[in-house]
Amino acid sequence: MKLISSIWLESASTELTLSVQRTADFIGLHELKVALPKSVTWHAATATLPPHMLVPLVREATQILSPGYLTVRTTSNRPNLVPAVHTVVGSFEKLVNYDFLIAEPFSLAQQPWIIVFFESISLQTKVCSYLISKLPAEYRNKDVVLNYHSLHSLDFLERIFKEFTERIGMSRILCTTSGNSTGVDFPGVDMVVCVGFPDTVAEFLQRIGRCARAPGSVGLGLALIEPWMHEIELEEFDEGDTSNPDRTRAPLKSNSNKKERAVFSAIKVVQADTCLRKLFAEELHDDSPEALLYTTKYCCSNHADNPLVLSDILPAPLYTGTDDEKLTATSKSRNKYRKTTERNGLDVLLIQWLRDVTKSEDPLVNHGFLYADDILSDKGRRTIVWEDPKAITDAKYIQTKLSESDEWYKLWAQEIFKIIVKYDKGEDLDSSEDEIMDSGEEADCT
Ligand SMILES: [Zn+2]
Repeated sequence: MKLISSIWLESASTELTLSVQRTADFIGLHELKVALPKSVTWHAATATLPPHMLVPLVREATQILSPGYLTVRTTSNRPNLVPAVHTVVGSFEKLVNYDFLIAEPFSLAQQPWIIVFFESISLQTKVCSYLISKLPAEYRNKDVVLNYHSLHSLDFLERIFKEFTERIGMSRILCTTSGNSTGVDFPGVDMVVCVGFPDTVAEFLQRIGRCARAPGSVGLGLALIEPWMHEIELEEFDEGDTSNPDRTRAPLKSNSNKKERAVFSAIKVVQADTCLRKLFAEELHDDSPEALLYTTKYCCSNHADNPLVLSDILPAPLYTGTDDEKLTATSKSRNKYRKTTERNGLDVLLIQWLRDVTKSEDPLVNHGFLYADDILSDKGRRTIVWEDPKAITDAKYIQTKLSESDEWYKLWAQEIFKIIVKYDKGEDLDSSEDEIMDSGEEADCT
């Protein structure tokens, strides 16, 4: 004990919070603190600490660290790492979505070192087998693609870990689950791919932070997401404890599916059209001048003025889908929503139009419909109001979007399309401006 002069707690945000929850047989940090001489200096280091974790952590830390402890804060931003989000075609089960991981044409020299994180072991196994099958026959049993899981022997895990991190041998792609690699560092990796956005932004940053650690290197931290993540609305998270950015929409049950498990911070990041680096800095309350720095050619995947063309930096092109799949994807792609500030104005115009139609006594206007709901339901109206204006190219689009009949199209689609076009051109708004503003204040829930 006398030989110990200082204690370093790595990943302190995890260690300290876990130490509270652990079972009685665990010798906690408090016990260790009591057992060691007072002269021992304690340090706690954490790479990613979201503000809502800070309060419990500080409460816990004050029992470990001496009163008046010193806080040293540096940025979590990695200027040589490009964070990016990409929506796959269909779902993660569609294996052609992973084609981009294998260099094309394949050669070991062209193949970057990649870690792929999975949430599900069965998907991990499936994707691994698929990737191996994509390799030229002579490489298929050479561990180019490694399936890293706890059922392997310790010797095997140690060997592949050494090969992978030291860039010896043929291993290039390591497939793993987050649980299997907690605290493991992979310094030589060029790219980290998360299949699914992790449950916290901090976790995402921890995972992608494993790449491009070598001096002078450049890395890519890519989150693959499924299209449904664009369909959840941020307002759905307004219930409950809104101070926790990693909240779900409702309490989870053991059989909750992945959509129910989606957390606010993840949806916010994947739907964002602002700089990811900036978003991460805000999430971590990192206001240091270095928080937005980047030394790479691209900042992140969210810049219209310097668009990141993922296919240019990936080993092979991304799967973009068949024409049919593209059509479905257009309505589910990023930035699919109309700007928050523009929604209420359009909503008011649509409500006004529905009122005019249903109040009219002219059968050529109302076509026999007396109730607004039978023409355009609240849900349908909301869908139109939220839809990305760029996606609404004609009346037919509205029919498809709302899954309405051809009869409905003939009666209403053109009218609705005209209202949207006029609104977006800023026409006919003077007369209704007061009403829009009044209603805007009342109805703005965003
Ligand atoms: Zn950016």
